[in-house]
Amino acid sequence: MAISIICTNKDPQPWVAALHDVDASLDIQVWPNEKQKSEIEFALCWKHPEGILQNYPNLRCISSMGAGIDHFLNDSFFPEHLPVVRLVDPLLAQSMFEYICTAVMFYFREFDLYQAQQRQACWYQQPPQSMAETTIGMMGLGQLGGYAAEKFSLMGFDVVGWSRSRKSLNGIQTFAGPQEFETFLSKTKVLICLLPLTPQTQGILNRDLFYNLPKGASIVNVARGEHLVEEDLIEALDADHLRGACLDVFREEPLPRKHPFWTHKKIVVTPHCSSITNPKSVAPQIVQNYQLMQNGKPLLNRVDILRGY
Ligand code: NAP
Repeated sequence: MAISIICTNKDPQPWVAALHDVDASLDIQVWPNEKQKSEIEFALCWKHPEGILQNYPNLRCISSMGAGIDHFLNDSFFPEHLPVVRLVDPLLAQSMFEYICTAVMFYFREFDLYQAQQRQACWYQQPPQSMAETTIGMMGLGQLGGYAAEKFSLMGFDVVGWSRSRKSLNGIQTFAGPQEFETFLSKTKVLICLLPLTPQTQGILNRDLFYNLPKGASIVNVARGEHLVEEDLIEALDADHLRGACLDVFREEPLPRKHPFWTHKKIVVTPHCSSITNPKSVAPQIVQNYQLMQNGKPLLNRVDILRGY
């Protein structure tokens, strides 16, 4: 009985060390060098090569190495009958909040406008704004979006949130489903995308959405690059409908050197660093799920692979 770490763009060694720190007796193997594929019962995966999970005849559980599971949906041979779990970690939620808080404060305290003024040596004090009059719109009110929405509300911002099912969060006006989407957007001054990537949310940050936001709104995308229709964003920024965009995730990563986002004056680019999973912090829940699986008990943080998140 063993765990295999199957990843293509992460170094597996810190994960092996972190899991062994929790339980030194674990048999942890690393793709593609497992001793016997038949020994593997638990796969810890990130962007695994398509079809590869079919090579493990005794696999009983698949865990994502992050909060998202959209990388599984790209595998048309994915064993959908197996339970799938993801990582839920307070540190991940806190670090995501820190990033989006920085982005929100950048627009709220108008550093983007002052940067533009600086390029022209222009000394001009923008009219002051209040937090209570600045509405943050949170798309996705799950582990990350729900946590950040409540923190922004406690800071004094006006916060509205949108999710698939209705939510009740302290001090936050919530909207649900496609029928309430436009009302949600019409109130939003800084829009944050923390949706999972699913067929329903792919390309959701598009022209229609941008023009349903009030003129001068900003967007922050920290979810997935495929949520954004890139040419629609550039058009809405160049037409001065949107004020700015802070982007941490991209359709192609690393962002190609010639990509227009790098040099656009109204776009802030960061290299998918908004919230990086710390193996030490998440190793205990991975080991716990491995033990729960062995004992036939319900797993933690199970996802519905058919729903897509
Ligand atoms: P989560 O707990 O699963 O929450 C997802 C939220 O999105 C839920 O509120 C859900 O609504 C809502 N939602 C899903 N589909 C929707 C739809 N079609 N319309 C409206 N709302 C919809 O996910 P999470 O842990 O907060 O993570 C969110 C995403 O952040 C991940 O999937 C991942 O892609 C991204 N992420 C990025 C980074 C990074 O470094 N940039 C790090 C971690 C995660 P219900 O509540 O009604 O289900």
